[in-house]
Amino acid sequence: MRDVWNTEGLIALDKAHCWHPFTQMKDWCAADHEPLVLVGGEGAMLRDSRGREYLDGNSSIWTNLHGHRQPEITAAIRDQLERVAHVSFLGTTNAPAAQLAGRLSALLPVGALPRVFFSDDGSTAIESAMKMAIQYWQQSGSPKRGRFVAFDQAYHGDTAGAASLGGIGAFHDRFAGHQFPVHRISDPDDLENLPVEEIAAVVIEPLVQGAAGMRLWPRGLLRRLRECCDASGMLLILDEVLTGFGRTGTMFACEQENVIPDFLCLAKGLTGGYLPLAATLTSEKIYSAFLGRFDEQKTFYYGHSYTGNALGCAAALANLEVFRTHRVLENLQPKIAVLSDLLAGLASRKRVHEIRQCGFLAGIEVRDSEGTPFPWQARTGGRICEAARKHGLLTRPVLDTIVLMPPLCTTEDQLRMAVHAIGVAIDEVCGDCD
Ligand SMILES: *Cc1c(COP(=O)(O)O)cnc(C)c1O
Repeated sequence: MRDVWNTEGLIALDKAHCWHPFTQMKDWCAADHEPLVLVGGEGAMLRDSRGREYLDGNSSIWTNLHGHRQPEITAAIRDQLERVAHVSFLGTTNAPAAQLAGRLSALLPVGALPRVFFSDDGSTAIESAMKMAIQYWQQSGSPKRGRFVAFDQAYHGDTAGAASLGGIGAFHDRFAGHQFPVHRISDPDDLENLPVEEIAAVVIEPLVQGAAGMRLWPRGLLRRLRECCDASGMLLILDEVLTGFGRTGTMFACEQENVIPDFLCLAKGLTGGYLPLAATLTSEKIYSAFLGRFDEQKTFYYGHSYTGNALGCAAALANLEVFRTHRVLENLQPKIAVLSDLLAGLASRKRVHEIRQCGFLAGIEVRDSEGTPFPWQARTGGRICEAARKHGLLTRPVLDTIVLMPPLCTTEDQLRMAVHAIGVAIDEVCGDCD
């Protein structure tokens, strides 16, 4: 059965009323711009209102793991919906949230991060960690520790606190006067020059900075950072909003350097990409600093209306169950190798400047034949992604880096198709670039 969609009508309504994120709406609303209206999905594929199909090449902005309409996740959400969709986590609890907290803690070494604080998205997972870190130090005899350290080109979300940590000029400079105090570094060695006794926590995206264009950290950097934090007492917040849940080849990126953070922030893939839900995991040491008599005012006064949402938690439980029953991480390893081989085939193209792969995610950066970046105003990466649609791949670039990080369930044939689409699209757009 195929629905019939009034594509023109939907686009007219959208252009009349919607305001899209990270989008210049003047271009969006231009008469010659026809946005895709996505109406269906199956596995790693998406379908638009005109019946065209695409590989979901960026996992619907880095969220989807096991594909669309995945039967177990769909059933779990449906079952929970038959009971109750949402109840407040302020003053009551619910079954899927309690079970999920236990399951998430159990993904880490025993006792490492036993406490789970739920919120709604990556930004709020980070905000929660930041506020916990500041309050932790206030309640642990070091109230001067109120500053943060973040890295060049970092991205930790768009709410005000999380955006303070961001190091991408185009997104963050404008709000510079409205921020938490942050020191910016490019390497753990830079910590030597900072007043570490005033720093609450260091925040990093482990192994790979996503929004910076899939920028890879040198191996060992995360381990070194953990050691610096241990030596100076600073807390370590790991932002695994992107890297969590298998993207880098292991359940969490931090496993690859044997690092356990003080806070682990999870979102995007937590529900398999089905519903907005986030979690901030922390240690018993941090948690216990918030315990006291009611009138000692050590309570963590933070929360959102949808905290611990039952549908989201049910989806997340099903997500973890799919990892187990379908042996997702095991089956992913050969596909990571296939992806490497396919990407190596792109490397010889003249405009391909660098290919950065970490597990099942990759960035393909194009530059002109001299190795100089194209002027950003030319939107070269954007135009390549638009061209790739005609060859069956839907993705978005970061500037001139084409992001390829499809759902973990993507087949080898689909990977082949995606990499082929990128190659052809680069030729089409850059054939006469410089
Ligand atoms: C997407 C992202 C965030 C923000 O998550 P939202 O759900 O969009 O608020 C934070 N950190 C990283 C590393 C991300 O990729």
